[in-house]
Amino acid sequence: MSAANTVRLPTQPELRVLKPSRTPVSKLLGKTEHLLIVVPEKPPVSIWRQLPDGTKLRKIAGKSLAANTLIRSRLANAAGTGITLGKLPGTGSGKKAVSAFERLSFSGRLAADVCGDNPASVAVLVAGFDAVTEAAILESLLLALAAHRFNMPVYKSEPTSRKRLNSVRILKDETGIDVPRILAEANATNLVRWLTSQPPNFLDAKMYLALLRSLAKDKGWKLSFLSEAKLKKAGAGAFLAVSQGNAMRDAGIVHIRYRPKKSAVRPKIALVGKGIIFDTGGNNLKPFKGMLDMHQDMAGSAVAVATLAALTDLEAPFAVDCWLAITENRVSANAYKPRDIVTASNGVSIEVIHTDAEGRMALADTLALAAREQPTAIVDFATLTGSCIAALTERYSGALTNRPTLNELLIDTGRRCGERIWPFPMDHDFDEELRSEVADVMQCAPAGGGDHIQAARFLNRFIPDHTAWVHIDLSSASRKGGLAQVPGEVTGFGARYAINLVLDSHEQLAAAAKG
Ligand SMILES: [Zn+2]
Repeated sequence: MSAANTVRLPTQPELRVLKPSRTPVSKLLGKTEHLLIVVPEKPPVSIWRQLPDGTKLRKIAGKSLAANTLIRSRLANAAGTGITLGKLPGTGSGKKAVSAFERLSFSGRLAADVCGDNPASVAVLVAGFDAVTEAAILESLLLALAAHRFNMPVYKSEPTSRKRLNSVRILKDETGIDVPRILAEANATNLVRWLTSQPPNFLDAKMYLALLRSLAKDKGWKLSFLSEAKLKKAGAGAFLAVSQGNAMRDAGIVHIRYRPKKSAVRPKIALVGKGIIFDTGGNNLKPFKGMLDMHQDMAGSAVAVATLAALTDLEAPFAVDCWLAITENRVSANAYKPRDIVTASNGVSIEVIHTDAEGRMALADTLALAAREQPTAIVDFATLTGSCIAALTERYSGALTNRPTLNELLIDTGRRCGERIWPFPMDHDFDEELRSEVADVMQCAPAGGGDHIQAARFLNRFIPDHTAWVHIDLSSASRKGGLAQVPGEVTGFGARYAINLVLDSHEQLAAAAKG
């Protein structure tokens, strides 16, 4: 056994956000390294008069006709403050509203330009919009700057250049944006990116548990660990079928509890995450390219725990439990095989078909154990199926629920926050493909086809009828070139979605459980 490689939680201090002040703008800018300006696509002439160096900027803007060209300049002050100006496409008279996704993508381009200069301080000025649009743009810019300034894990022997940005000064804010909420969302996205990008020989099951314990200490959570021995006692044969192929006996299910300070007990929400810390595919081995990034197969667990961290920071007024299924899926003499039959903790017997469908095996017991604690609603996150990517690409993630009345809310939450979700059908007749001659259910359909739907129908066997359940198949966890405001391949997708769904719509989730 080699010495353990250490992973730490991100150490970069949180972005400091300074609200508008009475100090004259010219004085503030004298102490700021970069100024970020957003105006409408076709700004009225009066706008330029409101901007520092407006006459000069208007001249430059007049030359660049394309709406999506960024305008760069420098203030003639002692600090030589750099300027990046962007015209938000699709805004101005008679144009329809810009979507949250478009706004975040635009903000990501601006943040990339700003951080290219690596300033320590940025001032932000949004001019020429109504108050609601101004607030939405400010929010997007903060999310984008927080994503772009984040130093991702690197393991080079020579020190690499670090992002210096530590403070953002907002120059104008009509409505008063909710900065703690925005930062909690941004931090959650970054935590998912941080955890999901760790090398698999660093973030192994043991190190992941150690990290979760230190996070639990920080946040005041109660954490319990269901080891393989405990899971054997609980009869969790589906999870153990996957973990039995590991070289180490350190896999297990982590259960974390958040309880609000004020004793509001209902509704109780359970967040569940797939934490396959490396997925070889098992005996049905993945080919080279399919296996290359399989250290990211724990993204669902990172989304669940990062969401819990944000809900804790924002003092959510309801109880939340978090359940993380943490194991590798390896090839070994002990690894589970096609046609094995195992029994899960709720007594359902499963006929194994494909060892690369390990996520639904690990989740089956995790969902069943989460359900025993009688939550009102369960929301789970998993990089579960290739077929969900085939259906949606990496731009959207999929949603499947045992309460179809929630589908509208699920779409709308994605539209509002810019992390887009699309639902799939959950009709009972899909179960016909999972019918087994020898067990209660087959793990997946040998003929294939609609595997993201089949996976959800399979998981549905482990959810009691009285519990509302939403399953998110994270097809957008990873995307070449990033997604919306987030640069780099690992997108952190899911945490902001979950925060928006659970925090803003916990009452609808509870109502759906009854209905
Ligand atoms: Zn797999």
